[in-house]
Parts: sequence; structure tokens; C-alpha cells
Amino acid sequence: TWEGGQGELMSVVLPSYNEEGMIEKTANVITRILENEKIEHELIFVNDGSSDNTQLEIEKVADQLSNVRYIMFSRNFGKEAAIFAGLALSKGDCVAVMDCDLQHPTETLVEMYRLWEQGYEVIEGVKKSRGDESFVHKFCAKTFYGIMSKATKIDMSRASDFKLLDRKAVNSLLSIPEYHVFFRALSSWVGFKTTSVEFDVKEREVGESKWSFKSLVKYAINNIAEYSS
Ligand code: UDP
Ligand code: MG
Repeated sequence: TWEGGQGELMSVVLPSYNEEGMIEKTANVITRILENEKIEHELIFVNDGSSDNTQLEIEKVADQLSNVRYIMFSRNFGKEAAIFAGLALSKGDCVAVMDCDLQHPTETLVEMYRLWEQGYEVIEGVKKSRGDESFVHKFCAKTFYGIMSKATKIDMSRASDFKLLDRKAVNSLLSIPEYHVFFRALSSWVGFKTTSVEFDVKEREVGESKWSFKSLVKYAINNIAEYSS
């Protein structure tokens, strides 16, 4: 539990699905860098119904590190649900959301926090490069974001779920009565003083991407149907 401190608290929400090989490393890497930077923080792992040892790993790091808390889903509800559950549990004055496979660079997390200190309320992580993806994946992503950008009037081609939000923006997102949420679009839709930082998507070290072709198509169709007239 958070006992309060001098500075302001940042929560870091980490959706985790079958990430047994990454949990401990990710917790240690983020904790070390934030301690070095003297940023008060809590890490919130959201175990999205993993079928491997993710839960055990999370409990292990929660025992070792006092800044770690977690949520355990009863089944796999998907990353969007995991993000929103993490936001709901978070106590921070600002809340970051990042993947728990370290594909989102921790240096960028610090950069985002510094921008928040300067008064920005929504800091969007924007992909400078898309990492190692197949031609088909790149083509489909481009088509999907082309349609989404037209429908939502928000340029989403390089959008990601890597973001830092002020408490005000978090509360505003949590008040939206949508069942199917699309975090990377809604975070800019709510408004507030916004800026962005670029980052290079890192290679995944352990495990594999959870997105199958089928799940990506489903994600695309749902989002286009729900966020366009
Ligand atoms: N994830 C999740 N629930 C899911 C699928 C993925 O919480 O149903 C998490 C996953 O553990 C990771 C993040 O979402 O922290 C991004 O997933 P992944 O690395 O598979 O996507 P990619 O980086 O390939 O786009
Ligand atoms: Mg990944």
C-alpha cells in the first residue's frame, strides 16, 4: 500500500497476458529507473486471465517490492478491459499505461512524467517505427488506422496504448459508460492539454505477441463499428 511521500505519485498500469517470462524483469527495470529518477510510483499488474504462471510471478514480485499491486481477472477479457481495471484501481496523481513486455522504453516513461510535471495532462506515446512486423501486418494496420482516422477525425496511424494521463483525464475516461472501450482513441477524445513523445518499439525479449490475425480483424471491426457513425 501507498504510504504517501514528498513528491507526487505516478501509477504505472501493466496489462499482462501470459507474460511469465517478463513480469519480474519488467518490475525490476521500471522500479530501478523510477527510483533513480526519484519518482514516487506504484506498479499495477493486471493479470488478464493468463493460463501460464503469470499470476505466481506477479505475487512473487508483489512480495519482494512494496510498490507493486495487482488485479487478477477470472478469464481473458482483453487488453482494453485490463487497462481500464488498472486505471480504476490506480491512486496516482498521474497514471501511465505501458505494455509489460518492455517493448515500450522506460526512458520514454520518464520523459512523459517530466512533461506531466510541466503541466501537460495527456501525453501520448507515438510510434516512430513499428518494430519488426510482417508486410501483411503492416498493410492491415495501415488500412485499419486509415479508416479509424477518417471516422474519428483523430490521426491514429502511429498511435499506441503507451500513455501518461493526469488524474483529471483518468477520471474523465472512467466516467464514460462504454462497454467496449478503445483506449488509444478515447484518451485523445476526452481532450485536456495534450502533447506527444515519439518512441521506437523495442523487440519483445521473451514470449510472443498475443495478437493473431483473427483477433486483429475482430478488434478492427469492433472499433470501426463502435466509433464511427
Ligand atoms: N495483453 C493483455 N491481454 C490480452 C493480450 C495482450 O493484457 O488479451 C497485454 C500483453 O501482455 C502486453 C500488451 O497487452 O503487455 C501488448 O500485447 P502484445 O505484446 O501481445 O502486443 P504487441 O506488442 O505484439 O502489439
Ligand atoms: Mg508486445
